[in-house]
Amino acid sequence: MNLPPITLTGHAQKEAWRNKVLPPVERLGTEVWSIPVPFPGNPMRYTLSYLLLGDGDAVLIDPGWDSDAGLEHLAAGVRQAGLGLTDLTGIVATHFHSDHLGMAARLRKASGAWVALGDKEVRRLSAAGDPDLVLQNDREELTFWGVPADRLAEVAMDHLHLAHLRNLADPDLRLTDGSLVPAQGLNLQVVITPGHSPGHICLVDESHGLIFSGDHVLPRISPHIALELPGPANPLADYYESLDLIGFEDEMEVCPAHEYRFSGMHRRVAQLIEHNRERSAEVLRVLEAHRPDTVWDIARHLTWSRGWESLQAFSLRLAVSETASHVVYLRSQGHDIDVPVTEPRPAVLR
Ligand SMILES: [Zn+2]
Repeated sequence: MNLPPITLTGHAQKEAWRNKVLPPVERLGTEVWSIPVPFPGNPMRYTLSYLLLGDGDAVLIDPGWDSDAGLEHLAAGVRQAGLGLTDLTGIVATHFHSDHLGMAARLRKASGAWVALGDKEVRRLSAAGDPDLVLQNDREELTFWGVPADRLAEVAMDHLHLAHLRNLADPDLRLTDGSLVPAQGLNLQVVITPGHSPGHICLVDESHGLIFSGDHVLPRISPHIALELPGPANPLADYYESLDLIGFEDEMEVCPAHEYRFSGMHRRVAQLIEHNRERSAEVLRVLEAHRPDTVWDIARHLTWSRGWESLQAFSLRLAVSETASHVVYLRSQGHDIDVPVTEPRPAVLR
Protein backbone atom coordinates (compact mmCIF):
# COMPACT_ATOMS: atom_id res chain seq x y z
CA MET A 1 0.00 0.00 0.00
CA ASN A 2 1.26 3.50 -0.86
CA LEU A 3 0.82 5.78 2.11
CA PRO A 4 1.61 9.53 2.03
CA PRO A 5 5.17 10.30 3.15
CA ILE A 6 6.09 12.35 6.21
CA THR A 7 7.57 15.87 5.93
CA LEU A 8 11.20 16.22 6.91
CA THR A 9 11.92 19.18 9.20
CA GLY A 10 15.30 18.21 10.72
CA HIS A 11 17.24 18.90 7.52
CA ALA A 12 20.64 19.25 9.20
CA GLN A 13 19.98 15.99 11.10
CA LYS A 14 19.04 14.10 7.95
CA GLU A 15 22.17 15.41 6.22
CA ALA A 16 24.30 14.29 9.17
CA TRP A 17 22.52 10.91 9.16
CA ARG A 18 23.46 10.42 5.49
CA ASN A 19 27.05 11.47 6.16
CA LYS A 20 27.26 9.24 9.23
CA VAL A 21 28.30 12.09 11.51
CA LEU A 22 26.77 13.51 14.67
CA PRO A 23 24.11 16.16 13.90
CA PRO A 24 24.55 19.69 15.28
CA VAL A 25 23.09 21.08 18.49
CA GLU A 26 19.99 22.99 17.39
CA ARG A 27 17.76 25.58 18.95
CA LEU A 28 14.07 24.83 18.29
CA GLY A 29 12.37 28.05 19.20
CA THR A 30 13.58 30.10 22.13
CA GLU A 31 13.38 27.62 24.97
CA VAL A 32 13.96 24.22 23.40
CA TRP A 33 17.30 22.73 22.40
CA SER A 34 18.14 19.49 20.59
CA ILE A 35 21.43 17.96 21.74
CA PRO A 36 22.74 14.75 20.14
CA VAL A 37 24.49 12.34 22.54
CA PRO A 38 26.67 9.56 21.07
CA PHE A 39 25.36 5.98 21.33
CA PRO A 40 28.62 4.07 20.88
CA GLY A 41 28.71 0.78 18.99
CA ASN A 42 25.06 1.01 17.91
CA PRO A 43 23.74 1.60 14.36
CA MET A 44 21.48 4.37 15.73
CA ARG A 45 24.73 6.25 16.49
CA TYR A 46 23.15 8.89 18.76
CA THR A 47 20.24 9.73 21.02
CA LEU A 48 18.60 13.12 20.58
CA SER A 49 18.37 14.68 24.01
CA TYR A 50 16.13 17.73 24.44
CA LEU A 51 16.69 20.59 26.87
CA LEU A 52 13.61 22.64 27.80
CA LEU A 53 13.98 25.91 29.67
CA GLY A 54 11.18 27.17 31.93
CA ASP A 55 11.00 29.81 34.65
CA GLY A 56 13.99 28.78 36.73
CA ASP A 57 13.52 25.15 35.68
CA ALA A 58 15.64 23.30 33.13
CA VAL A 59 14.40 19.87 32.12
CA LEU A 60 16.27 17.35 30.02
CA ILE A 61 14.38 14.68 28.07
CA ASP A 62 16.31 11.42 27.40
CA PRO A 63 19.87 12.15 28.56
CA GLY A 64 21.25 9.25 26.48
CA TRP A 65 23.83 6.51 26.87
CA ASP A 66 26.14 6.84 29.86
CA SER A 67 29.70 7.55 28.74
CA ASP A 68 32.37 10.19 29.34
CA ALA A 69 32.18 11.28 25.70
CA GLY A 70 28.39 11.50 25.95
CA LEU A 71 28.64 13.64 29.05
CA GLU A 72 31.01 16.02 27.26
CA HIS A 73 28.65 16.36 24.29
CA LEU A 74 25.74 16.97 26.60
CA ALA A 75 27.65 19.54 28.65
CA ALA A 76 28.71 21.39 25.48
CA GLY A 77 25.11 21.46 24.23
CA VAL A 78 23.77 22.70 27.56
CA ARG A 79 26.49 25.40 27.56
CA GLN A 80 25.23 26.64 24.17
CA ALA A 81 21.89 27.23 25.90
CA GLY A 82 23.73 29.33 28.49
CA LEU A 83 23.60 26.77 31.32
CA GLY A 84 25.80 24.20 33.02
CA LEU A 85 24.85 20.61 33.83
CA THR A 86 24.52 21.57 37.51
CA ASP A 87 21.63 23.89 36.51
CA LEU A 88 19.40 20.99 35.47
CA THR A 89 16.34 20.69 37.71
CA GLY A 90 14.61 17.69 36.12
CA ILE A 91 15.34 14.69 33.92
CA VAL A 92 12.57 12.79 32.12
CA ALA A 93 13.27 9.52 30.32
CA THR A 94 10.70 8.38 27.77
CA HIS A 95 11.56 4.80 28.77
CA PHE A 96 14.10 2.84 30.80
CA HIS A 97 16.39 1.67 27.96
CA SER A 98 20.05 2.49 28.54
CA ASP A 99 20.31 4.81 25.53
CA HIS A 100 17.64 7.03 27.13
CA LEU A 101 17.80 6.73 30.93
CA GLY A 102 21.51 5.77 30.91
CA MET A 103 23.12 9.06 31.90
CA ALA A 104 20.37 10.11 34.33
CA ALA A 105 22.06 8.67 37.43
CA ARG A 106 25.25 10.58 36.75
CA LEU A 107 23.44 13.83 35.95
CA ARG A 108 21.29 13.57 39.07
CA LYS A 109 24.41 13.25 41.15
CA ALA A 110 25.95 16.33 39.53
CA SER A 111 22.85 18.55 39.62
CA GLY A 112 20.41 17.26 42.23
CA ALA A 113 17.75 17.14 39.48
CA TRP A 114 14.82 14.75 39.93
CA VAL A 115 14.52 11.79 37.57
CA ALA A 116 11.08 10.87 36.20
CA LEU A 117 9.68 7.88 34.29
CA GLY A 118 6.13 7.01 33.25
CA ASP A 119 4.12 5.34 36.00
CA LYS A 120 3.70 2.14 33.95
CA GLU A 121 7.37 1.68 33.16
CA VAL A 122 9.03 -1.43 34.56
CA ARG A 123 12.60 -2.53 34.75
CA ARG A 124 13.63 -6.07 34.01
CA LEU A 125 15.79 -6.30 37.07
CA SER A 126 15.89 -4.39 40.29
CA ALA A 127 19.21 -3.77 42.00
CA ALA A 128 18.10 -6.34 44.58
CA GLY A 129 17.27 -9.09 42.05
CA ASP A 130 19.38 -12.24 41.82
CA PRO A 131 21.32 -11.88 38.54
CA ASP A 132 22.10 -15.61 38.23
CA LEU A 133 18.42 -16.46 38.48
CA VAL A 134 17.54 -13.82 35.87
CA LEU A 135 20.15 -15.17 33.47
CA GLN A 136 19.02 -18.76 34.02
CA ASN A 137 15.35 -17.85 33.40
CA ASP A 138 16.33 -15.94 30.30
CA ARG A 139 18.14 -18.96 28.85
CA GLU A 140 15.22 -21.25 29.63
CA GLU A 141 12.79 -18.93 27.83
CA LEU A 142 15.02 -18.62 24.79
CA THR A 143 15.40 -22.41 24.63
CA PHE A 144 11.62 -22.69 24.79
CA TRP A 145 11.44 -20.34 21.79
CA GLY A 146 13.74 -22.72 19.89
CA VAL A 147 17.03 -20.84 20.08
CA PRO A 148 19.58 -23.61 19.33
CA ALA A 149 22.06 -24.49 22.08
CA ASP A 150 25.01 -23.31 19.99
CA ARG A 151 23.51 -19.80 19.61
CA LEU A 152 22.29 -19.44 23.19
CA ALA A 153 25.39 -17.75 24.62
CA GLU A 154 25.19 -15.17 21.83
CA VAL A 155 21.50 -14.37 22.21
CA ALA A 156 21.04 -14.64 25.99
CA MET A 157 21.56 -11.77 28.41
CA ASP A 158 24.91 -11.73 30.17
CA HIS A 159 26.33 -10.19 33.34
CA LEU A 160 27.55 -7.09 31.51
CA HIS A 161 24.08 -6.41 30.12
CA LEU A 162 22.56 -6.92 33.56
CA ALA A 163 25.12 -4.63 35.17
CA HIS A 164 24.01 -1.87 32.78
CA LEU A 165 20.38 -2.38 33.76
CA ARG A 166 21.17 -2.47 37.47
CA ASN A 167 23.08 0.80 37.33
CA LEU A 168 20.21 2.75 35.79
CA ALA A 169 18.67 5.48 37.94
CA ASP A 170 15.59 4.62 39.98
CA PRO A 171 13.02 7.35 39.36
CA ASP A 172 12.19 10.00 41.99
CA LEU A 173 8.92 10.75 40.20
CA ARG A 174 6.36 8.70 38.30
CA LEU A 175 4.41 10.57 35.62
CA THR A 176 0.76 9.66 35.05
CA ASP A 177 -1.14 9.80 31.80
CA GLY A 178 -2.43 13.30 31.03
CA SER A 179 -0.40 14.97 33.79
CA LEU A 180 2.02 17.86 33.27
CA VAL A 181 5.75 17.50 33.88
CA PRO A 182 6.24 19.40 37.19
CA ALA A 183 8.40 22.32 36.03
CA GLN A 184 7.69 26.05 36.22
CA GLY A 185 7.02 27.67 32.87
CA LEU A 186 6.84 24.40 30.92
CA ASN A 187 3.68 22.96 29.48
CA LEU A 188 4.65 19.36 28.82
CA GLN A 189 1.85 16.86 28.87
CA VAL A 190 2.47 13.15 29.43
CA VAL A 191 0.93 10.54 27.13
CA ILE A 192 1.50 6.93 28.22
CA THR A 193 2.39 4.94 25.10
CA PRO A 194 3.37 1.33 25.95
CA GLY A 195 4.67 -1.00 23.25
CA HIS A 196 8.38 -0.38 22.68
CA SER A 197 8.71 -0.69 26.46
CA PRO A 198 6.02 -1.51 29.05
CA GLY A 199 5.52 2.11 30.16
CA HIS A 200 7.00 4.28 27.40
CA ILE A 201 5.79 7.90 27.42
CA CYS A 202 5.56 10.66 24.84
CA LEU A 203 5.51 14.33 25.84
CA VAL A 204 3.37 16.91 24.09
CA ASP A 205 4.25 20.61 24.20
CA GLU A 206 1.22 22.26 22.59
CA SER A 207 2.44 25.81 23.09
CA HIS A 208 5.55 25.16 20.98
CA GLY A 209 3.81 22.70 18.65
CA LEU A 210 6.23 19.89 19.54
CA ILE A 211 5.78 16.18 20.31
CA PHE A 212 8.69 14.38 21.96
CA SER A 213 8.12 10.83 20.76
CA GLY A 214 11.06 8.93 22.30
CA ASP A 215 11.30 5.58 20.47
CA HIS A 216 7.52 5.19 20.11
CA VAL A 217 7.51 6.84 16.70
CA LEU A 218 10.69 7.30 14.66
CA PRO A 219 10.79 8.68 11.11
CA ARG A 220 12.64 5.84 9.36
CA ILE A 221 12.83 2.63 11.34
CA SER A 222 9.95 0.77 12.88
CA PRO A 223 10.60 0.53 16.64
CA HIS A 224 11.23 -2.94 18.06
CA ILE A 225 8.17 -4.35 19.75
CA ALA A 226 9.63 -7.28 21.62
CA LEU A 227 8.10 -9.87 23.89
CA GLU A 228 10.13 -9.47 27.06
CA LEU A 229 10.07 -11.86 29.95
CA PRO A 230 8.97 -10.73 32.43
CA GLY A 231 6.85 -8.12 30.69
CA PRO A 232 3.40 -7.22 29.33
CA ALA A 233 1.27 -10.02 27.92
CA ASN A 234 0.74 -8.57 24.44
CA PRO A 235 3.14 -5.72 23.60
CA LEU A 236 2.10 -5.46 19.95
CA ALA A 237 -1.54 -4.96 20.93
CA ASP A 238 -0.34 -2.28 23.37
CA TYR A 239 1.68 -0.66 20.61
CA TYR A 240 -1.29 -0.43 18.21
CA GLU A 241 -3.35 1.20 20.96
CA SER A 242 -0.56 3.66 21.74
CA LEU A 243 -0.18 4.58 18.07
CA ASP A 244 -3.87 5.51 18.01
CA LEU A 245 -3.34 7.66 21.09
CA ILE A 246 -0.50 9.70 19.67
CA GLY A 247 -1.57 9.92 16.02
CA PHE A 248 -4.16 12.59 16.85
CA GLU A 249 -2.86 15.28 14.54
CA ASP A 250 -0.47 15.84 11.69
CA GLU A 251 0.87 19.38 11.95
CA MET A 252 3.06 19.46 15.05
CA GLU A 253 6.78 18.85 14.75
CA VAL A 254 7.83 15.42 15.99
CA CYS A 255 11.07 15.35 18.00
CA PRO A 256 12.13 11.68 18.14
CA ALA A 257 14.94 10.23 20.24
CA HIS A 258 16.83 8.99 17.16
CA GLU A 259 17.26 9.87 13.47
CA TYR A 260 15.65 13.27 12.66
CA ARG A 261 12.69 15.59 13.23
CA PHE A 262 9.66 15.58 10.98
CA SER A 263 6.02 16.59 10.84
CA GLY A 264 3.20 14.22 9.92
CA MET A 265 2.59 12.15 13.06
CA HIS A 266 -0.71 10.95 11.65
CA ARG A 267 0.95 9.84 8.40
CA ARG A 268 3.83 8.12 10.22
CA VAL A 269 1.45 6.29 12.53
CA ALA A 270 -0.42 4.97 9.47
CA GLN A 271 2.88 3.70 8.02
CA LEU A 272 3.87 2.00 11.29
CA ILE A 273 0.50 0.26 11.61
CA GLU A 274 0.77 -0.90 8.01
CA HIS A 275 4.35 -2.13 8.55
CA ASN A 276 3.38 -4.20 11.58
CA ARG A 277 0.25 -5.60 9.92
CA GLU A 278 2.35 -6.65 6.94
CA ARG A 279 4.83 -8.29 9.30
CA SER A 280 2.08 -10.24 11.03
CA ALA A 281 0.78 -11.31 7.59
CA GLU A 282 4.27 -12.52 6.71
CA VAL A 283 4.38 -14.58 9.91
CA LEU A 284 1.11 -16.23 8.85
CA ARG A 285 2.51 -16.97 5.38
CA VAL A 286 5.63 -18.56 6.93
CA LEU A 287 3.45 -20.69 9.22
CA GLU A 288 1.44 -21.87 6.21
CA ALA A 289 4.40 -22.52 3.93
CA HIS A 290 7.01 -23.97 6.29
CA ARG A 291 5.09 -25.39 9.25
CA PRO A 292 7.75 -24.13 11.70
CA ASP A 293 7.52 -25.48 15.22
CA THR A 294 9.38 -22.80 17.16
CA VAL A 295 9.59 -19.00 17.23
CA TRP A 296 13.20 -19.30 16.08
CA ASP A 297 12.07 -21.37 13.13
CA ILE A 298 9.52 -18.72 12.13
CA ALA A 299 12.09 -15.93 12.52
CA ARG A 300 14.63 -17.56 10.21
CA HIS A 301 12.06 -17.75 7.41
CA LEU A 302 11.07 -14.07 7.69
CA THR A 303 12.71 -11.35 5.59
CA TRP A 304 15.28 -9.20 7.42
CA SER A 305 16.77 -6.03 5.97
CA ARG A 306 20.31 -7.43 5.82
CA GLY A 307 19.30 -11.08 5.76
CA TRP A 308 18.79 -13.61 8.55
CA GLU A 309 22.42 -14.76 8.38
CA SER A 310 23.66 -11.25 9.17
CA LEU A 311 21.77 -11.12 12.47
CA GLN A 312 23.99 -11.67 15.47
CA ALA A 313 24.02 -11.22 19.22
CA PHE A 314 21.67 -8.45 20.36
CA SER A 315 20.08 -7.88 16.95
CA LEU A 316 19.41 -11.62 16.72
CA ARG A 317 17.78 -11.48 20.14
CA LEU A 318 15.59 -8.58 19.01
CA ALA A 319 14.61 -10.48 15.86
CA VAL A 320 13.50 -13.51 17.89
CA SER A 321 11.67 -11.52 20.57
CA GLU A 322 9.93 -9.41 17.91
CA THR A 323 8.77 -12.59 16.15
CA ALA A 324 7.46 -13.85 19.51
CA SER A 325 5.42 -10.66 19.96
CA HIS A 326 3.77 -11.23 16.56
CA VAL A 327 2.93 -14.83 17.50
CA VAL A 328 1.32 -13.69 20.77
CA TYR A 329 -0.59 -10.93 18.96
CA LEU A 330 -1.86 -13.23 16.20
CA ARG A 331 -3.04 -15.73 18.78
CA SER A 332 -4.94 -12.96 20.56
CA GLN A 333 -6.63 -12.28 17.21
CA GLY A 334 -7.90 -15.85 17.09
CA HIS A 335 -5.21 -17.52 14.98
CA ASP A 336 -4.46 -21.05 16.10
CA ILE A 337 -0.66 -21.13 16.18
CA ASP A 338 0.92 -24.24 17.62
CA VAL A 339 4.31 -22.81 18.57
CA PRO A 340 5.49 -22.65 22.19
CA VAL A 341 5.55 -19.15 23.67
CA THR A 342 5.36 -18.74 27.44
CA GLU A 343 2.74 -16.49 28.95
CA PRO A 344 4.73 -13.44 30.07
CA ARG A 345 4.85 -12.99 33.83
CA PRO A 346 4.17 -9.47 35.02
CA ALA A 347 7.36 -7.62 35.90
CA VAL A 348 7.70 -5.97 39.29
CA LEU A 349 7.05 -2.24 39.28
CA ARG A 350 9.48 -0.23 41.29
ZN1 LIG B 1 16.43 4.29 21.84
